[in-house]
Amino acid sequence: MLLKKIPKKKRLIIFIGVLLVLGFTATSLISYFAAAGTLRIEMTEDILPLTSDNIYSEIQKDLVRPAFIASMMASDTFLRDWVLNGEKESKQITKYLAEIKEKYGLVSSFFVSESTRTYYYAGGKLKTVNPTDSRDRWYFRVRNMEHPYEINVDSDMADRDKLTIFINYRVVDYNGNYIGATGCGLTVTTVQALLDSYADRYQRTIYFVNKQGQVTLTGTNTPPPFTTIPKNISLPDNAQNTARSKTKAISYTRNEETYLLNTRFIPQLGLYLFVEQSIQRQIRQMRRILLNNLAVSIVISVLVLFAISSTITLYQTKLESMATTDKLTQLLNRHAFEILFDQAVQEAERVKRPITAILFDIDEFKKINDRHGHPAGDAVLVSVAATAAEAIRKSDGICRWGGEEFLLLLKDCSLEQGELLAEKIRQSVAETIIYYDGKAIQVEVSLGIAELRKGENQENLLHRIDQALYLAKEKGRNRFESAL
Ligand code: GH3
Ligand code: MG
Ligand code: MG
Repeated sequence: MLLKKIPKKKRLIIFIGVLLVLGFTATSLISYFAAAGTLRIEMTEDILPLTSDNIYSEIQKDLVRPAFIASMMASDTFLRDWVLNGEKESKQITKYLAEIKEKYGLVSSFFVSESTRTYYYAGGKLKTVNPTDSRDRWYFRVRNMEHPYEINVDSDMADRDKLTIFINYRVVDYNGNYIGATGCGLTVTTVQALLDSYADRYQRTIYFVNKQGQVTLTGTNTPPPFTTIPKNISLPDNAQNTARSKTKAISYTRNEETYLLNTRFIPQLGLYLFVEQSIQRQIRQMRRILLNNLAVSIVISVLVLFAISSTITLYQTKLESMATTDKLTQLLNRHAFEILFDQAVQEAERVKRPITAILFDIDEFKKINDRHGHPAGDAVLVSVAATAAEAIRKSDGICRWGGEEFLLLLKDCSLEQGELLAEKIRQSVAETIIYYDGKAIQVEVSLGIAELRKGENQENLLHRIDQALYLAKEKGRNRFESAL
């Protein structure tokens, strides 16, 4: 119902506008969701597992050298002989450990004797290990271990409790009996630097979590997101998630941000490697692109609608004027005049003022055409139209009624006043010399006049005028006749 009240042009503009907006919005949203989906898949299936792979192999590389040094120490004949000889001069072992530490640039080197439970390091005797001390638990683990060595991340008592990766090697005598544990420690700074570079370059947070779910190792610049992993993250199953198997990332929410998280167990360290990244930043960026796209779409839509609207207006005006004016004389055409005529008649009846009409026709016009050609005839029509238009008042109307016939509508005008005007027009036309193609042409007109009678309709009035005009032609042309 409402739609019917809206003009057709507006309806078209609204329709096209809705189409454009829907089209642009749909394509923008589709590409946004497609991009977001691809991002998620790439992150979970490729980027995060690859980062975790790189860090894993980097750690392995870092551990090869110290593992070799530790194995060398464990099989060192001096060390074993010194122990088997009753650990006589502790200075000797201390010197040995200091040498190794210095030579290989290690953070610490140590030996713990099984018989005396003394912990020797480069600085002397550190302590006596005790099975009840939780900090010495590692020694008793190594002591009972089947594997010749282990890698353990722990705080170093000999170095202000700094977090250190220890390589703990079992030392056995020449008969294979266990006599103590030796090895070295290296700082996690290289690993940390690696974690930092990933954090800086890719905004990925990387940290290690122990089996109890506590965060034990992070980069230096990036604080761990939590000290103990939240309940919504579960540690991966050891057996299924070995260092080799690639794992897909999971997504979880923290502080209202969505994180994609990849976890894997690193058996050499006994720790879980966590690599996580918030996708909020990328999503935000995509949203910005989406908004930009939409803004551009709106601008384009507005421009397109404006172009369509102006084109329609232009053609509408053109069509309207084409439908109402006569191309040759620029006067109103018959169709437009009939509407005007109706209005004028109604108004005349309302205000009770006389209204008079004149119909005139060019005399012997056929001959003009025949003698001077059709274009000359056209020029005559234009000239006669202009002459008649000039003779009437602004409030009066004139139209080209047909071929060489013109109809005038004189408002607030009696028959007598109409006759005066008819005579004026007749005279003016007759006196006008029309020059065309170097030739002077003169024409005359015959006119019929009638005043609208009370209650008379248009058709009847025109009929009477027509008869008057016919009479003027009959009576010899170049004259006017009034209808009875
Ligand atoms: P009468 O004095 O009886 O009116 O004679 P007439 O020759 O003027 O009358 P008739 O109606 O026989 O001829 C009108 C001619 O006007 C015929 C037609 O070819 C010509 N005519 C009509 N429209 C145009 C026009 O737009 N341009 C030109 N050049 N001639 C036109
Ligand atoms: Mg005629
Ligand atoms: Mg004629």
